[in-house]
Amino acid sequence: MLISVIIPCYNEELVINETHKRLTHVMKSLNHDYELIFINDGSKDRTQLILQDLAAKDSHVKVLDFSRNFGHQCAVTAGLNNCTGDVAVIIDSDLQDPPEVIIEMLDIMQKEQANVVYGVRKKRDGESWFKLVTAKMFYRILNRLSDVKFPLDTGDFRMVDRKVIDQFNQLDETNKYIRGLIAWMGFKQVPCYYEREARFAGETKYPLSKMIKFAMIGLFYFSKKPLNMATSLGFASIVLGFLYLLWIFIMIIFSMGHLVTGWTSTIALIVFFGGVQLLTIGVLGKYIGNLFDEVKGRPEYIISEKINFDDKKTP
Ligand code: UDP
Ligand code: MG
Repeated sequence: MLISVIIPCYNEELVINETHKRLTHVMKSLNHDYELIFINDGSKDRTQLILQDLAAKDSHVKVLDFSRNFGHQCAVTAGLNNCTGDVAVIIDSDLQDPPEVIIEMLDIMQKEQANVVYGVRKKRDGESWFKLVTAKMFYRILNRLSDVKFPLDTGDFRMVDRKVIDQFNQLDETNKYIRGLIAWMGFKQVPCYYEREARFAGETKYPLSKMIKFAMIGLFYFSKKPLNMATSLGFASIVLGFLYLLWIFIMIIFSMGHLVTGWTSTIALIVFFGGVQLLTIGVLGKYIGNLFDEVKGRPEYIISEKINFDDKKTP
């Protein structure tokens, strides 16, 4: 059996050597053939040089070098598209997902005859409370909104078999929310609980802006409920406006109060309805933007160089 390990790397010069060492140690202990596919996602530091060096010394190391930074999900996609294993493991390069868990994942996969073994974080070390709270909230909200049920507290750290890899490679969404797509696929999916460690070195490559973009893809690609909410909000504001008019009408009939003094309420209503309109237009815009991305059909990533692959051609 051949096991492919997919490792996206972006500016990880401080950790790559250690990651390679720990992964090699784990993979050797499994007594299966293996390949370590490192994807250099347009790093600006020495990541690619280190990878070239590793690939020259160790034929298990394969490298996909992107022409620029395309993002973590595109890097994982490239890994899945180019791996030849019977099973593949997706793992972060910063050693937050301990490579030793792969042994347990393989064990679970074989015992349970599972197609997917996904890592569930029992504990997360070395992460800010902001990230922990927002991540927890996001997964719970997404689960509420989506028709697909996602396992909670799960990242992309998982083992998938060839059936899943082949299905995945047939999906042609440009913006991929990989953990969602794999959950959506079905098959037999089993959890594997592990403790997420602190980053080995360096700092997160997922600043808030990237996190929001990622969360938006998860939300808008897996749920049409924001559109329904926009409609409900519009409807609610119409009802409110109508009630207000009714109130004014009653005031006129019974000559109560002074209507000219309604300046504040007028402004308040303009602001309220303006807000509702902008919000609903925003939601529509988001879906149209996503359609635009998909219709263009641009490749998700561009590979500038492949090292240690049998086919040297770039797709
Ligand atoms: N990563 C990537 N491209 C990016 C951002 C991140 O390939 O644009 C990789 C990164 O090198 C790491 C993994 O994705 O292996 C997860 O990123 P990170 O550890 O920075 O995210 P966090 O664990 O803080 O959420
Ligand atoms: Mg990390």
